[in-house]
Amino acid sequence: MAGLASARELRREGHDVTVLEQNADVGGQWLYDPRSDGADDPLGAAETVKVHGSLYASLRAISARENMGFTDFHFAPKDGRDGRRFPGHREVQLYLRDFCDAFGLMEAVRLNTRVLRVAMAVAPTRKWTVRSVHEGTEEEEVFDAVVVANGHYSQPRLPSIQGMEAWRGRQMHSHSYRVPEPFRGDVVVVVGCGASGKDIAMEVRGVAKEVHLVAKSMEEVTPGLAKVLAKHSANLHLQLHVERLCEDGLVVFGGGGSGVLADTIIYCTGYNYSFPFLHTAGAVTVDDNRVGPLFEHVFPPSLAPSLSFVGIPIKVFAPRFFEAQAKWGAQVLSGRRTLPPEQEMMRSVEEYYRAREIAGVPKKYTHDVCLSETMPTVRTTNLADSLKRGIDYASYLKKEHLSVTYILDRLIFIQRL
Ligand SMILES: Cc1cc2nc3c(=O)[nH]c(=O)nc-3n(C[C@H](O)[C@H](O)[C@H](O)COP(=O)(O)OP(=O)(O)OC[C@H]3O[C@@H](n4cnc5c(N)ncnc54)[C@H](O)[C@@H]3O)c2cc1C
Repeated sequence: MAGLASARELRREGHDVTVLEQNADVGGQWLYDPRSDGADDPLGAAETVKVHGSLYASLRAISARENMGFTDFHFAPKDGRDGRRFPGHREVQLYLRDFCDAFGLMEAVRLNTRVLRVAMAVAPTRKWTVRSVHEGTEEEEVFDAVVVANGHYSQPRLPSIQGMEAWRGRQMHSHSYRVPEPFRGDVVVVVGCGASGKDIAMEVRGVAKEVHLVAKSMEEVTPGLAKVLAKHSANLHLQLHVERLCEDGLVVFGGGGSGVLADTIIYCTGYNYSFPFLHTAGAVTVDDNRVGPLFEHVFPPSLAPSLSFVGIPIKVFAPRFFEAQAKWGAQVLSGRRTLPPEQEMMRSVEEYYRAREIAGVPKKYTHDVCLSETMPTVRTTNLADSLKRGIDYASYLKKEHLSVTYILDRLIFIQRL
């Protein structure tokens, strides 16, 4: 998604674009992959996962289709296709295919081409050497600029739980979950109460003996979830965090809960940013899921504008947000817009970090742009109040290029609640 948004904006600005895509088709996460890393790496703990896809077969978009389109290419229902407002993954992939066709992007896309290494070419040029592999043949090319848009829902983030290594049952991450059938008759513990955790717990409940859904705290138990738990109380149970795992298969829960002898634990505990191919000599690092320093989550000050990132923020409406980032990046590269000097960009990043720290936002949520120090109560239902906060936030940022997107995002986000 972010790569296609970038390709279109770069071409609009007259740049010559090559998109290197490791999969056999476009769509990124939305290209459902029935394979999984499960066979040889069920936890996805290897440094680079082999399978990019993390979607399960039954997944439907959590956002409504009217919020999921590019600004000028709406995600409208089509005859003979999945016309639901919250469509299945295949429909989103087809939409992205349609987008490519409408803008002639496929001529810029090289499929089945995996990027192995991206590094700065020999100084003083600001060019980039990119090594890739296509059907076993490696190639090295030099580009004037690189936009990194490799997604961040592939590399599992795992909790650290006492006894994890010695626990005798099956442990896996939701990255490798596809269908419920392998869990028939099992006692399953699903750790994590986000969208995937809830979906997977509900689906597995249909075939499993028991499912224990583990929340971090009661705050995660929304009225909707409480209703679902009550309705399926026969074999779906809520637990508070996992305290420890015992070798004999016992899972001990916190919050006064007892233990359960389980067959399987599925960790629905999120993903880490990972750029195994990127070599910047320390100019961009990932520290506790903070990718940085990045000016406005896009440009590393010391390497801008020849290196940029599109698609880093989370809980934004994709692809519209990515489109705004891509437009900005493409216009900076063509000279239609300018960036502040490096020191100023660095200062802005540091100020942003400081403000978040003061507001008590953990580092790992650096790119959760909804969790803002000026908008601590984003979950309000008062639209006017939220809009005012959106405008305050935009003016606080003093970033015209993003303010409209932030405000729109705020509005649609609130409407969705
Ligand atoms: C279970 C799940 C449910 C989700 N549900 C929603 C939802 O309902 N609504 C929503 O808006 N978002 C949802 N998302 C988020 C979704 O990932 C984003 O909408 C969107 O796909 C992000 O686009 P992207 O381009 O940043 O990343 P991706 O879609 O992941 O695309 C990245 C691309 O980079 C390629 N790539 C990576 N590394 C390399 C390499 N080394 N060489 C070559 N190519 C490479 C990948 O193959 C992939 O095609 C969900 C994600 C998950 C995991």
